[in-house]
Order: sequence, then C-alpha cells, then structure tokens
Amino acid sequence: MNASLETPQVIILLGPPGAGKGTHAPKLSQHLQVPHISTGDLFRYHLKEKTTLGEIADKYIQKGELVPDDIVIDMVIDRLSESDCKNGCILDGFPRTTFQAVSLESKVTDKIIKAIYFKASDEILFERITGRLCCKECNAVYHKSFFPPKEQDICDKCQSTLFQRKDDTKEVLKKRLEVYHLQTDPLIHFYDKKNALTEINVENTNSLEDIFQDILFSLKETTLSPS
Ligand code: AMP
Repeated sequence: MNASLETPQVIILLGPPGAGKGTHAPKLSQHLQVPHISTGDLFRYHLKEKTTLGEIADKYIQKGELVPDDIVIDMVIDRLSESDCKNGCILDGFPRTTFQAVSLESKVTDKIIKAIYFKASDEILFERITGRLCCKECNAVYHKSFFPPKEQDICDKCQSTLFQRKDDTKEVLKKRLEVYHLQTDPLIHFYDKKNALTEINVENTNSLEDIFQDILFSLKETTLSPS
C-alpha cells in the first residue's frame, strides 16, 4: 500500500556513495508519491545532453570531487520550484556540505526537512561500488553479485543497456570517500542537533526489503498516512 505525506516534507537521504540511497530512493518516491531528485543523476543527464553545466560538472565528477556549491544549489532550488515538488520530495545526494544544508533551509521554508542517514563502513562500500551497474535511461541501480539484473547488462525495468559509471572505480571512490568524510559527515551532526535525523544501519540488515521497511519505520514517527 502506498502512503502520502500529511505535511510537505523534504526527505534527505544522507550517506556515503554505495550505501544504497539510489537503490531505495525510487521505491520510496513511488511509495510516498513525491519525486526523487538525485543531483548525481541530474548532472549525468546534463552530461548526456552535452550542456555547459554538464561539461563543468563532469570535470569534478571524474576526479571524485564535489561540484562547487553555487552550481549545485542553483540546480536543486530550480528543481524544487517545479510543481511536482509541492507535497515534498526525496533528495538523494544533496546536501553534501554544510553550506548546501544551510542554503536549503533558508530557501525551503514551507516544508519539514528531515534526513535519513544510511550508515555503512568504507570496506563494504568498495565492494558495492566496484560491482555497481546503472541504467542509462531510467537510472535504476543493480549490482553484479548482490542484485544482478535478470538478463546480463539489461535493465529489468526498461530493457536499456546497463553501464558502469566512470567514477565507480577504486581510485575515484577512494577520493569520493575522503571528500565524503571531510565535507558530508558533518551533516550527520547538523541534522541530529535539530532532531531531524534518523539512522539506519545498512550493513547488518539481510535484505533490501528489510532496509526499506526500516526506512518506512524511521519515517513513521512523522506524518505518513495511508492514501
Ligand atoms: P552521486 O551520483 O550522488 O554519487 O554523485 C556523483 C557526483 O556528482 C559526485 O561525486 C559529485 O562530484 C557530484 N555531486 C552530486 N551531488 C553533489 C552535491 N550535492 N554537491 C556537489 N557535488 C555533487
């Protein structure tokens, strides 16, 4: 059964690369009937469409660095102003710096902001990221061993070809994790201090369904209602 958000909420999925944000976000988006906004997907879309924004962002993405705050913030605030976000949205990969979090708060004053922290150790992330496969068209995420597509390299959902992201290599991931710990980890404290954080351990749980149930449970204290 789907649910709806009684009060408009911006639900932030916070956590390191490979923690499963991109796997659970589409399902959560469908369940809550609010859009899934992934900044990484938006940048990859711009890159595919060969826009100037895509070209600029790619320079940072390839090195495992963060795209400058002003560029990301403008892109996200623009997207949030679209009508499908009026009841809320799921933010995947944003904010990633304290400056982004403060900006989000100052621009979104009509919605509750809460964060779900996907907790996982660096060791497990290497295994997950280097085996990850993504769909070129619908952005669905798979894993060669843990969550393989039914047909090799073909998306179950839209039958497009799967690919490995250029930044999903061991070398780039090392840099991405360094950047994550330095710039994004402080957001755990930032949202915790505001009583806006719930934590989910994504390592010790057996199945993706268990994790999804944990996510729904973590949102329960707020305002989910059957639709
Ligand atoms: P993701 O798909 O979330 O792993 O993002 C891929 C890459 O896009 C990141 O490694 C960054 O280079 C860039 N990116 C995505 N979101 C942000 C953000 N909020 N701030 C800065 N850079 C970002």
